[in-house]
Amino acid sequence: ISIDSNTLLEKLNHYFHHSTFKSDLQKNAIITILKRQVDVFVSMPTGSGKSLCYQLPAILYSPKITIVFSPLIALMKDQVDHLMRLKIRAETINSKMTVSDRKRVLNDLYSVQVTTSLLYVTPEQAATDFFKNLLSYLVRKNKLAYIVVDEAHCVSQWGHDFRPDYLSLGSLRKLYYQIPWIALTATASADVVKDIMTTLCLKTPVSKFSTPCFRANLFYDVIFDDTIGNSYQHLKEFIDLCLCDDINCLKNEANINPSKQPCGIIYCRTRDLTEEIATVLSRRGVSVAPYHAGLKDKERLAVQEAFMSGHIQVITATVSFGMGIDKSTVRFVVHWGMPSSIPAYYQESGRAGRDGELARCRIYHSKKEKNSLDFILKSAITQAKTQDKQKKAKSSYQMFLKMIQYCESVLCRHGFFADYFGDTKPECIDKCDVCSNKEGVKLDLDVFIYGINS
Ligand code: ADP
Ligand code: MG
Ligand code: ZN
Repeated sequence: ISIDSNTLLEKLNHYFHHSTFKSDLQKNAIITILKRQVDVFVSMPTGSGKSLCYQLPAILYSPKITIVFSPLIALMKDQVDHLMRLKIRAETINSKMTVSDRKRVLNDLYSVQVTTSLLYVTPEQAATDFFKNLLSYLVRKNKLAYIVVDEAHCVSQWGHDFRPDYLSLGSLRKLYYQIPWIALTATASADVVKDIMTTLCLKTPVSKFSTPCFRANLFYDVIFDDTIGNSYQHLKEFIDLCLCDDINCLKNEANINPSKQPCGIIYCRTRDLTEEIATVLSRRGVSVAPYHAGLKDKERLAVQEAFMSGHIQVITATVSFGMGIDKSTVRFVVHWGMPSSIPAYYQESGRAGRDGELARCRIYHSKKEKNSLDFILKSAITQAKTQDKQKKAKSSYQMFLKMIQYCESVLCRHGFFADYFGDTKPECIDKCDVCSNKEGVKLDLDVFIYGINS
């Protein structure tokens, strides 16, 4: 289908009740997918509307069917419920469903007048004879529109979401070469993208739609803990700086919506640390509370509420914080100690400045913590009992080394991300410590590594 912009908007509105596309990227991906001439790869952050990229085309090609591979039954259920509410017929086939449900779904798929538009399937189904027969039937009858692989990074052993079942999808790709494939993911380092292309056997040249990773409103830096004297005081001053950037905010405090108050997140490795830092900071006058999985439900909800409503300005959290929580006025994200990997850091720090205004992302990097992590991660490799576990442990260690490289090199921080994600180098100019003060970073790094004041 080739469709003009206005008609496309009409369809978007009619089926999904959205009045605009979320981004040009979303729109352009949809236009390309609708042409059905190439395989398409979409990489956009969580929440940016990747599902629509295949759901709208799937509907416009109905009564043809679109098959969607998705890693979790819970995820599939969310999608199916959402589509059913929109009066779009979506079904799933998975190992947990009842015999009668399965019969109902299959009856429709094998009927002359198919009403199912989207069929969600777990990847382990792909290898079964039953599924291969279904697929071959749909292709023979010319009833298949697309094959979609959601969370496509699960094919890659580089990430922590690796799913062996995803590996068998590639053989399906080769079986029916004329059906266009669509792969979507939120986390795509250059290595993972390569894995997705080769493992899924996507037809080259693949059309790619990726959100550029550079966010010009975020200022990144690394503080070498051993070079700054009292690190808690240092942190306190940083918080003051970030939260008072817009001094007017404070003046108009009574007038403004408290949920739009500037706020910040401090990520810590352990629960104990979240408690400790919250205590220290609150003694120094910061409005702060710890947030972690160890809190009772009631306490956790209370902290969450207080943070969302602006009554608490800073939270010290373990990385589990943030699931489903989105506040646009986060003015800083501190990592008290190293994040676990570059993509994790990119994602966690990326919670800052969602409103597009200046926000700061900082790592406090300490030698002591680095050495202890090095020890822990190395021991995990030697202690791994299975090959699988050893692989995971090794990969964690590799990610840790990459993170050290980020902290301990005098390279543009944004450039480092771009390189990692396979993007072109951004024009950082002064959006990180290295670009704005290269000599200063070099000096601090020397002190950190060699312990000398040269
Ligand atoms: P992703 O898979 O990229 O994490 P989803 O596809 O789950 O994101 O979409 C996230 C949210 O964005 C959903 O609530 C969806 O309804 C909404 N959304 C998608 N496209 C649009 C749009 N064009 N306008 C408004 N909301 C949209
Ligand atoms: Mg999604
Ligand atoms: Zn830079």
